[in-house]
Amino acid sequence: MPELPEMEITARRLGEALSGETIESAVAPGINALKTFDPPLSALDGAEIEDVRRRGKLLMLDAGGLTLLMHLMSAGRLQLFPKRATMRDRTARVGLRLSEDRELRLREFGTKQRAWVKLLTPEALAAEESLAHLGPEAWPDPPALAERLRAPRPLHTLLRDQSVVTGIGRTWVDEILHAAMLSPFKRGDDLSEEEADRLRTAMVSELGRVVEAYEEQVAMPLPEKFPKPTRVHNHQGEPCPRCEGVLEAVFYDDYVMTYCPQCQTEGRVLKDRRLSRLLK
Ligand SMILES: [Zn+2]
Repeated sequence: MPELPEMEITARRLGEALSGETIESAVAPGINALKTFDPPLSALDGAEIEDVRRRGKLLMLDAGGLTLLMHLMSAGRLQLFPKRATMRDRTARVGLRLSEDRELRLREFGTKQRAWVKLLTPEALAAEESLAHLGPEAWPDPPALAERLRAPRPLHTLLRDQSVVTGIGRTWVDEILHAAMLSPFKRGDDLSEEEADRLRTAMVSELGRVVEAYEEQVAMPLPEKFPKPTRVHNHQGEPCPRCEGVLEAVFYDDYVMTYCPQCQTEGRVLKDRRLSRLLK
């Protein structure tokens, strides 16, 4: 799933490319993608795009006094086509037709339709549930974390809880915890003030590092797959970038959590859940 850095660069690049552009017409070929009906999508016809913004992993396109709120989920991608594509596109969910035959299209790959879009008035935007439950942004300037993380839940879960801090998912959480030298299984309510500060610093610097890398590497058209400048996540079996010990991993059904035993868990190798399930 695209996380804060991926959505940040998406918002920047689309904002640069589209601000001031007029929407000629808007269409929603994906049956389930558009979750609102009032105002209708046609309210965007003729509207000028004012800005493209990000909140957590959500994207907001402001046009004509309305906001198109988009959540790409795991398989959605926003792509700007230079020419109106005439071929049938089964991945198309929502399309904004622009001048010179260009089209901004939300596409979704894979079998599930989970990406969604809402067209909201300013009042509806202010009351929008998916935004109201979000915690403060994990980057660039999150609040102190000690209080926010004070819960009997592991850090790996807490940091990905969008109501605690927003923007972090399964990829960048591993980089952040490694940089902070904290165990993914340490409980939030066991965190000292000093550790919470260290975690905050690591969060800002790791997410910032990725945003900076994207700023250099990602240009229009937006790639289907973003580069992943990871050092830890999914690098199990490779040497730790800090201590040169071997990175270990815990495998879950649909993702992997990678960590360094020496830097993060006092040398303990945590149970590989996939293996332990097989051995049951
Ligand atoms: Zn290490």
